Amino acid sequence: MNRDHFDYLLMKIGIIGGGQLGKMMAQKAKKIGFYVTVLDPTPDCPATQVADKQVVGDFYDENKLRELVEESDVTTYDIEHIDVEVLKELFDKGHKIYPSPYLLDVIQDKLKQKDVLYKGGIPVPRYQKVESSICLEKFGFPIVQKARKGGYDGRGVVVLRDKGDLDKAIKVESLVEEFIDFEKELAVMVARNAKGEVRCYPVVEMVFDERANICDMVIAPARIEKEIEEQAKKIAIKSIEALDGVGIFGVEMFLAKNKVLVNEIAPRPHNSGHYTIEACLTCQFEQHVRAITGLPLGSTKLLSPAVMVNLLGEERCQGHSTIEGLNKALSISGLSFHFYGKKVTRPFRKMGHVTILDENLERAIEKAKKVKDFLKVKAS
Ligand code: ADP
Repeated sequence: MNRDHFDYLLMKIGIIGGGQLGKMMAQKAKKIGFYVTVLDPTPDCPATQVADKQVVGDFYDENKLRELVEESDVTTYDIEHIDVEVLKELFDKGHKIYPSPYLLDVIQDKLKQKDVLYKGGIPVPRYQKVESSICLEKFGFPIVQKARKGGYDGRGVVVLRDKGDLDKAIKVESLVEEFIDFEKELAVMVARNAKGEVRCYPVVEMVFDERANICDMVIAPARIEKEIEEQAKKIAIKSIEALDGVGIFGVEMFLAKNKVLVNEIAPRPHNSGHYTIEACLTCQFEQHVRAITGLPLGSTKLLSPAVMVNLLGEERCQGHSTIEGLNKALSISGLSFHFYGKKVTRPFRKMGHVTILDENLERAIEKAKKVKDFLKVKAS
C-alpha cells in the first residue's frame, strides 16, 4: 500500500504508564492526529489529561495489559518497570510493541544490559556479577554496587569506597562496577525505526542534585570537544543498534579521561531530552511516535542552545502542589514552563520543568541557576 495514501489518522497508540513522559508523548501523538489510550493505576494521571481514553490498571495486571495491547495498533511505554512476560507473549502473536519486550527484558536487568553492550563492543565500566560478598572485596575498591532489577533515580545503587563500607552493600541480586571518577555525565537521545533508520540528537551534559541523586539540570549542547562529541554519538548509535532498538532511547554516559563509557540506557523518552521540545526541529516525543508508527524520522537539528531545569518537589513539602515564583520566571526571555498536572507534591518528585533558550549558552546557564533559586513547588 502506498504509505502516503494510508489513512493513518485512525491509528491507535497504547501507552503503558501515564506520567509526564506518557503525557508529552500523548501530546505529540494527538498533534499528529492519532488516538491515544493510556494504562495507568491512577485515574486522571498526567497522560490521561491529554489522551482519548484511560484503562485504569496496574503495570503488572496481565488482563489490563492484554486489553490495552489488543485494542491498540501499536503499544509503547513510558516506564521500564512493567510486566514483560505477557508483553512477550502478545508480541509473539504479532502485536506491535515498541521497543520490543525482549529488549525491555534486557534493559530491566542491569547485568544483562551490560552483557549485551559489552558483547556489542560498546565501552562500559569494568563490571562483574556479584555471586557473594567476597566478589565485592576481590573486585578492588572503590566500587559501585547496583541491584540488577528495580532501581531508578539512584535507588538500588551504592558506592563502596573501601572495606569499611562493606556493611552498606545491598543484599539483592546485583553487579559491581569499577568506580568511574568522571568529569561529566553526558547523554544522547537516539531514535531508530523498524527499517533501521537512525537519528541522533546533540550530546548534552546532565548535572545532578547531590541530595537526591536526581538529574536536575541539562545543558545542551554539552561543553565538550568536537572529538568527544563524535565519539559519544557514535557509541550511542552503536548501543541502540546492538539492542536492535525501535523507538527513542536515552543513552547515559560518563566522560572520564577523554574517553566515553556507557552507563545505562533508557528505552523511552528521557529527562535529558526534554530540551528538544523547544530547542530541536523534531522533539524526542514526536520522534518516538514517528519511530514506533513507521513514519519517517524528523530532523534533530539544534535550533538554539538550551538549558533544562527540573522542578522537583521541595524537601519537607507534601500535599496539594502550589507553585512559587511563576510570574517572575515567565518574565525571563526565552523561558518555557511545563507543569505535569500531578495533584500531589512530594520531596524531589518530578513536578514539571523549564527550558531556557538563549543564543549564548553561558547566559542560559546563568538564567537557569537564578530560576532554580526562586521557582519552587511547595505544598499548600
Ligand atoms: P539509576 O538507574 O538509578 O539511574 P545509575 O546506574 O544511572 O542508576 O546510577 C545512578 C548514578 O550513580 C549515576 O548517574 C552516577 O552519578 C552514579 N554512578 C553509577 N555508576 C557509576 C560508576 N560506575 N562510577 C561512578 N559513578 C557511578
